[in-house]
Amino acid sequence: MIQLIRGFKDILPAETALWQHIERTAASLLGDFGYGEIRVPIMEKTELFARSIGEDTDIVEKEMYTFVDRGGDTLTLRPEATASIVRAYIQHKMYADDPVRKFYTIGPMFRRERPQKGRYRQFYQIDAEAFGIESPLVDAQMIYMLHTLFERLGVQDTQVLINSLGCPDCRPRFRQALLDLLDGVEEQLCSDCRRRKANNPLRVLDCKVPGCREAVAGAPAIIDYLCDACRAHFDTVTGALTAHGIPFVLDKRLVRGLDYYTRTTFEIQTTALGAQSAVAGGGRYDGLVQALGGPATPAIGFAIGFDRLVEILGQQTQITAAGPALFIAAIGDAARAAAFDWSLRLGGAGLYVEMEHGDKSLKAQMKRANRLDAGHVLIVGENELAAGKAVLRDMATKEQTELPIDGIVDALRQRLAP
Ligand code: ATP
Ligand code: MG
Repeated sequence: MIQLIRGFKDILPAETALWQHIERTAASLLGDFGYGEIRVPIMEKTELFARSIGEDTDIVEKEMYTFVDRGGDTLTLRPEATASIVRAYIQHKMYADDPVRKFYTIGPMFRRERPQKGRYRQFYQIDAEAFGIESPLVDAQMIYMLHTLFERLGVQDTQVLINSLGCPDCRPRFRQALLDLLDGVEEQLCSDCRRRKANNPLRVLDCKVPGCREAVAGAPAIIDYLCDACRAHFDTVTGALTAHGIPFVLDKRLVRGLDYYTRTTFEIQTTALGAQSAVAGGGRYDGLVQALGGPATPAIGFAIGFDRLVEILGQQTQITAAGPALFIAAIGDAARAAAFDWSLRLGGAGLYVEMEHGDKSLKAQMKRANRLDAGHVLIVGENELAAGKAVLRDMATKEQTELPIDGIVDALRQRLAP
């Protein structure tokens, strides 16, 4: 038997109700804050990700699904959504009328990581991006939206970690201070970090190898090196969070490697997930639109790990799909034919109806109606057809009523309409 690919998974019907609940809650909240849905392809030219995420990152170095297609183009399954949305923003000149544009997208991402709980090779993100706003209040608003979403969903134990990466003006001074420290601990670093030290030393702060974490424990904090403008920006973000009752913790190790990632960076963590503690991450990338060929445009975004959210909520809530409003228990060929006609017309009118297509006893059919959690059962056999009346049973109250078969579809629609 052919099995699915390692690190990939099926989301089965028993689970999709929770996925849909989360998706609806997120889409409605994002809509309330003016984010419109955008859908971008799941494949792009490899260069787009290499340039926007950065050559020295885990994603680009080790995790991308990249292949040469039959025409010789080098393509990559998207490992995240930001790059594609930035490309679309530039390609469709969405900055032209008004550079302020806000988007969200929900869909699969692909990274070839070591599969484990909370970490898959195809996983899903809920992603939001805001273009054209430099104000630090948008940074606070994004974190507020995440906080509110988790609150609406009932996700407990979340913590906001925040840092500032400064800007191309102030980062070189920090970079130098970090390099001075790294020079002294070079032997303790993993081979990746030794290379990163030369190309992109900030990435060393992000390394998960325990030896590297220890080596940089005494590293300087970027926020001590911010220029006045970046300092003021950061203070406004944290001030707004405090004013609006959102607790946060400063995390000086929270970094992203590239020059176009600027200023605010944040992560939402939870204790509910064990090792995979990050449920969302985001931050500013004021230099990226221009780096990819668009006009200089400040921007900020976040991505929520949808699978991790499902895992947290699956532990604490039970959401199942609703059962049929009506199950038609038909006995005999003539009754089944009538039931089939009614079920089509009721289904067409928007009522969820199930029936038994096989030749089963009333007892077996009632059992199935129970298992499906049907709201009502309509019982119809030869006798009922002859008498021109069927029996409608309310499965909750056990109350039974007779309904004339003449006009039964309309009568059922009126009674059972949701
Ligand atoms: P991590 O540190 O867990 O590897 P990351 O920094 O790679 O996360 P981002 O690129 O910021 O993650 O993506 C945002 C969110 O997407 C993460 O906070 C996480 O919840 C989720 N995520 C990332 N990679 C995976 C994966 N392989 N499987 C499931 N969810 C993931
Ligand atoms: Mg990762």
